[in-house]
Amino acid sequence: MSRDPGATAASVELLVLDVDGVMTDGRLWFGPDGEALKPFHVRDGFGIKRLRAAGLEVAVISGRRSAAVDRRMGELGVAHVMQGVEEKDVALRELLGRLGIAGARAACLVDDVPDLPLMRAVGLPAAVADAHPDVLAAARHVTRLAGGSGAVREFCDWLLAARGATP
Ligand SMILES: [Mg+2]
Repeated sequence: MSRDPGATAASVELLVLDVDGVMTDGRLWFGPDGEALKPFHVRDGFGIKRLRAAGLEVAVISGRRSAAVDRRMGELGVAHVMQGVEEKDVALRELLGRLGIAGARAACLVDDVPDLPLMRAVGLPAAVADAHPDVLAAARHVTRLAGGSGAVREFCDWLLAARGATP
């Protein structure tokens, strides 16, 4: 595995995304019946679709549970959606085994300290611009955009560009 993040990006076969603070701005919208809404960024969705069209696997591993996540990931055709996960690295290793993909060929985009074990389990750990300082320090790549503001799209485009794809 190359020390150059761009070279590693070209060999990525699986992207693992956190939800809160990565696909959203991290705020939790509660109504009278509990968690009600998650504001997804529309451009992130197209980035995920392009990655899948290029043959990459995309997975979501979230510590929380939300019907909005199932709905949005269903729209985007993301087959691997794991919610209510306490040990994200354990869930990742199970997924890697099921898909037959080495951790070295996985990337993750995350924002907070509970994601650190996940970051250690992949070859290309990445953080959104407004991630926790410990996460920024552990990341091999940091997006210019913040979570919920198109950071996922930016990272998807970067992965595709590393493979020589045109935007
Ligand atoms: Mg998060």
